[in-house]
Amino acid sequence: MAPDRDTTRLMQRLAGDAITLTAGLRTPIDLDVVAERLGLQTAWGESRILPAEGQLLRGAAGWTVAVADSKAGRPRARFTMAHEIGHYLLETYGIPRPATEGDYWRTEELCHYFAGHLLVPPVAVGWVAEAPSSGPLEVLRRAALAAKRTAVSPQALSHRLGDEIHCCAFSEISLRPPSPRARGVIRWSVEKNFSWLGMGPRSHVRADHYLAPALAALREAAPGEIRTGYLNGLPAAAVRRFETIWLVGLEPALLERDPDRNLAQLCFPVLRSDRVGAPPLPSAPHPGIECEVISGAATGSRSSVAVAQAADHGARWVASSQGSA
Ligand SMILES: [Zn+2]
Repeated sequence: MAPDRDTTRLMQRLAGDAITLTAGLRTPIDLDVVAERLGLQTAWGESRILPAEGQLLRGAAGWTVAVADSKAGRPRARFTMAHEIGHYLLETYGIPRPATEGDYWRTEELCHYFAGHLLVPPVAVGWVAEAPSSGPLEVLRRAALAAKRTAVSPQALSHRLGDEIHCCAFSEISLRPPSPRARGVIRWSVEKNFSWLGMGPRSHVRADHYLAPALAALREAAPGEIRTGYLNGLPAAAVRRFETIWLVGLEPALLERDPDRNLAQLCFPVLRSDRVGAPPLPSAPHPGIECEVISGAATGSRSSVAVAQAADHGARWVASSQGSA
């Protein structure tokens, strides 16, 4: 479903801010520097107050983005931190906090979108975007290298590429199905511009599915090995990771019909931001709440719940924030 006009405007603003905030930085983007440019504190390896993967918190000492994973360099922790910085930006834009389930997921999508743009700069996307005319093997090779250089997961990179390279679809499939009748399980798929696998997360690949022979071949491959071929009529390439494969499929018709739509031009969207970072929010008084959890990623913690629980734990947060400043 196409995003509405307000969402599109927000996406453009977030993408523009991602460019501004990473000006002069090399990949992998140093998120501590990004946070510093916004006047935010970072806390790696601390799950403050709630058992969420990542949180944006406003406390007595200012704003903090906290990530539970202690490995600051890990792609998942980095993505979570970038996502929480996205929540902070939405706060500075004055976007009302989610009031409905729909708003909540829309906000999550926006923060994911921002995280992708913050971590994977246009130049990296543009480099992969030159590859489709050379075939799926080259797309996969460049995508794998881009993921490594930007320190993001295949999933995060695929979503970023899927927004810009319209002739490619991506998926990750687990080779360890939970039932003997399945040959694999779809972990995620990015098919933003054409339908290819047509299967959502957790779908089982049955023995009679066209993917089954490819999965059997890849099960024999060594980690890091790439196989290419045709899947459901489209040229495809897959790399064996450990228990999963990362798969890319190409829709050549889309590439030939309108090459400009697929290649570099779209990968350098005209996004400008004349703002130098986002201004810090004035600290509005919150009587009775010394710390407010603005967002909590993963674990499904909704902000209203989070705020209520934060109120109970406010004192502890204020005390712990002094130690990490
Ligand atoms: Zn979130």
